[in-house]
Amino acid sequence: MHIIVVLGPAGSGKSTLTKTFGEWIERVQRLKVAYVNLDPGAEVIPYVPNFDIRSIITVRDVMIKESLGPNGAFVKSIDTMAENKEHIIDRLKKFEDYDYVIVDTPGQMEPFVFRKAGPILVSTFKKLGRVSGIIVFDPLLAETTTDLVVLKTLGVITQIRLGIDSVIVLNKYDLVKKDKVFILKALNDTLSLRDEILKEGGIYSDIAAQLLELIDAYSQAARLVLVSAKTGEGMEDLYTIIHEMFCTCGDLT
Ligand code: GDP
Repeated sequence: MHIIVVLGPAGSGKSTLTKTFGEWIERVQRLKVAYVNLDPGAEVIPYVPNFDIRSIITVRDVMIKESLGPNGAFVKSIDTMAENKEHIIDRLKKFEDYDYVIVDTPGQMEPFVFRKAGPILVSTFKKLGRVSGIIVFDPLLAETTTDLVVLKTLGVITQIRLGIDSVIVLNKYDLVKKDKVFILKALNDTLSLRDEILKEGGIYSDIAAQLLELIDAYSQAARLVLVSAKTGEGMEDLYTIIHEMFCTCGDLT
């Protein structure tokens, strides 16, 4: 069993990508995919989950029972997930005969990654199979080359925090205007990206340029791929990287 954990800030397209990528793997690779929703705050999800955390806990219930506001209830729900890790793992064990299990994580990435739930759950997943991450960002939020370095850095920090090899995905390719050439260049031309950053000038662009150099020294951790979860563009590139990641830690038959 290969577990793919889909992470990213709210609205970046995690749930949409979970569905599109999962269906692509089923259709094109003819492999079996199980879908897991770990977002206790989700109202609607675009795929039919094989396991849904909302059968254990929902943000709405926590708000009512604990008299909390939406943010407090969200954090409390995510912490409760960590306390229920054995139950979650028991449910995931049932997907042993699936090739891939795609895990869609909470809408807001911060309480999952930077509180205890993310590291606890991911290390428990590792007992079931190989685990890789997809870290999804919305490139429309990147107005400058420095912004792109911020996304790359956040992607790398997430990998360090969770201890999983991941691919950083810039989603919503269909909305990226062709004049945002720096986004396209960023995929394969670090040197020109660095030059662009330095042109911005100032202390923060110097820091960003140095961060980029440092991150790219570990190119495996800084791989970028541009996709559209809406149109399905880029799914093959994404699969190739994910497949390679699993292959480098063993075999993928
Ligand atoms: P999540 O909060 O990260 O799970 O994000 P969602 O999957 O719920 O997506 C947030 C919004 O972005 C929804 O309105 C999606 O339809 C939209 N969306 C997601 N991926 C894409 C994409 O590739 N292109 C476009 N145009 N919209 C997208």
